[in-house]
Amino acid sequence: MIGVTVLGATGSIGVSTLDVLARHRDRFRVVALTARVAVDRLYEQCVAHRPEYAVVVDPDGARRLEQRLRATDLPTRVLAGTEGLLEVARLPQVDYVMAAIVGAAGLLPTLEAAHAGKRILLANKEALVMSGRLFMEEVRRGGAVLLPIDSEHNAVFQCMPAGFVENRNRDGVRRILLTASGGPFRSWPLAELDAVTPEQACKHPNWVMGRKISVDSATMMNKGLEVIEACWLFDTGPDQVEVVVHPQSVVHSMVEYIDGSVLAQLGNPDMRTPIAHALAWPHRIESGVASLDIFSIARLDFQQPDPQRFPCLRLAYEAVRTGGTAPAILNAANEVAVQAFLDGRLSFMQIPAVIDSTLEALRPREASSLEIILEDDRMARDFAARQVVARVRRAV
Ligand code: NAD
Ligand code: MG
Repeated sequence: MIGVTVLGATGSIGVSTLDVLARHRDRFRVVALTARVAVDRLYEQCVAHRPEYAVVVDPDGARRLEQRLRATDLPTRVLAGTEGLLEVARLPQVDYVMAAIVGAAGLLPTLEAAHAGKRILLANKEALVMSGRLFMEEVRRGGAVLLPIDSEHNAVFQCMPAGFVENRNRDGVRRILLTASGGPFRSWPLAELDAVTPEQACKHPNWVMGRKISVDSATMMNKGLEVIEACWLFDTGPDQVEVVVHPQSVVHSMVEYIDGSVLAQLGNPDMRTPIAHALAWPHRIESGVASLDIFSIARLDFQQPDPQRFPCLRLAYEAVRTGGTAPAILNAANEVAVQAFLDGRLSFMQIPAVIDSTLEALRPREASSLEIILEDDRMARDFAARQVVARVRRAV
C-alpha cells in the first residue's frame, strides 16, 4: 500500500485527488489530510478516508476538528500550524505527497517532502517559482521524485523523451509549447476590463479551480508562472518556452523536437487525468475522466497571446530572465494584488500595475538561501500592499 499525504486537501486539486484515490483503495492509503481553516469539509474527508492525521493550520480550527472527531471512532490525530504541515510531509509511512496548497504557504511543506525523498505531485507552482534552483537541488539531494500536476507541465512531461526522470534526458527537444485558454476575458473589449468583478474573473470557461488561480488565469499571470515553472522542471530557458492561446483547452501542451516532430497530450479539461497519471506513473490507472469526444470538439484553434491585454505574461518572462529572487518578488506581489482584487480593493487592470511597480522598486538578489528568498518575498508583500493602498487613495 502506498501512503499518501494530501496538502491542501479541501481545495479544488485536493478534492480531485481524493476522488482518484477513492477509486483505488486497494493501492493507496490516505495517511494525512491538511487544510487552512475549512474544518467542515476536512471533517467529512476524514470520515470518508480515515487518515491517521489531519492538520488544520488555524489553531482554533484544529481544536474544533479535534472536538468533532472525538465523538467518532476514527483513528485520526489532529495537528495544528505549519509544524503540523511539515510533520505530515515527512512521515516515514508517507510515500507520496500531493502538494496542493495555494501560494507561498505551500513552500516549506513541499520543501520538507523533497528533503524527505518523497514522490512529490506538484500542483503548488508558486513554491517552485519562488525557489526554483533551491527547490530542484533539494529534490536531487533528498532523492525525491518530482512529477508535475499542472496540466500543461504534466502534458509536457508525458511528451518528454524516455529517461527524462531517471537522468534528465531531454535529447532532441527544441522547444516547449505551453497552451493557455486565454481565460474568461480573451475576447472582451479592452476598455471594459478595468470594471470586471471577482465573480466574472473566477468564471473560467473550461476549468473549475480555486479563486486565486482563476484570477491568475484571467490575467494570464498563471501562464507566466507556468513559463517559470517549465524552465525549472524541464531544465530550459524562457526562450525555449512559447505560450500558445488555445481556447478549447483540449491540447494541454506540446513538445517540439529538432526533427520537426511535435508531440501533444490531449484530453478533457479535468485535473483528475494529470493526478491519476502522477499517482500511477510509470503505469496508468482509471481516473474517472470521460473519454474525449473528438467529434463534438471538431476544431482546435491556436493564437498568439495579446501582450496589451495580458501584461502579466511579459512581467513573468522579464522576472525569469532577471533571475535570482525576481520570480519570488513577482509571485509575492501577484498574491497581494490578486487578494486585493478578490476583496474588492483593487481593480482588475491594476493587478499588473502593482506587480510592475514592485518589480521596479525592489532589487532582486541571488536566490542563494531560503532566508533570502523569504526575506524578499516579505519585502515584496509589504511594498505591494502599500501600492494597493496608494492606488485606492488615488481612486477616491
Ligand atoms: P484552492 O484555493 O481550491 O485550495 C487551496 C488549498 O490550500 C485548500 O485546501 C486550503 O485550505 C489550503 N491553503 C490555503 N492557504 C493555506 C495556508 N496559508 N496554509 C496552509 N494551507 C492553505 O486552490 P486550488 O485551485 O486547489 O489550487 C491549489 C494549487 O494547485 C495552486 O498552487 C494552483 O496554482 C495549483 N493548480 C490548480 C489547478 C486547478 O485546477 N485547481 C490546476 C493547476 C494547478
Ligand atoms: Mg496549468
